[in-house]
Amino acid sequence: MSNYNKIPEVTEIILKWYSKNSREFPWRYTSDPYKVFVSEILLQRTLAAKVIPTFLKIIKKYPSVNELAKSDINELKKYFEDIGLFYRAELLKNISKQISIEFNGKIPEKREDLRKIKGIGDYICNSILCFGYGKRYQIVDTNVVRLYSRLFSFVSTKKDIERDPKLWELAELVLPEKNYVNYNYAILDFAALICKSKHPQCSECPLNKYCGYLNKIT
Ligand code: SF4
Repeated sequence: MSNYNKIPEVTEIILKWYSKNSREFPWRYTSDPYKVFVSEILLQRTLAAKVIPTFLKIIKKYPSVNELAKSDINELKKYFEDIGLFYRAELLKNISKQISIEFNGKIPEKREDLRKIKGIGDYICNSILCFGYGKRYQIVDTNVVRLYSRLFSFVSTKKDIERDPKLWELAELVLPEKNYVNYNYAILDFAALICKSKHPQCSECPLNKYCGYLNKIT
């Protein structure tokens, strides 16, 4: 038995929780796809709080795709000294170059165009469309994998769960028709603060009544 029939209750609870517990970050609610793009590259495998100073410095120095495309790679890499994973400097520059050349420096707002850009996968693509352009697209990252695997007892047959089309289908099903921007931010915060990787806060979790992991729904 699955608990998919509880999706409306679950989304409502998550949104209600978010209204009181949202985290504030400088890349949220900017409606600027460029800032969303930069933040998502910086957030790869790095804690959000750690990314803030680097994000602010990069945005100040390179306020547009075209300026990032023209950046000196060694200078750009210096901004990564605090957060590591220097390959992301190349990634930022290469993606910006492609957008600059093929899309006149404007981040595409069509999914098929975004996915043509080397280095933009499904997660970053949908984040830009949802957070940057306000369109209704679901997101799936490691946090969402963890939350939905537990909450909905989702079991993947794929090696790489993050790319499992069935999980993306589930995420689309769960995404509300309205308030989807808040909802996508909410599941990221909920997974980070409540449904944590090592120590999920099940006793205080507002979803514990519906959770497959806790109630052993299979
Ligand atoms: S009850 Fe526990 S496992 Fe289930 S969603 Fe809440 S925190 Fe996660």
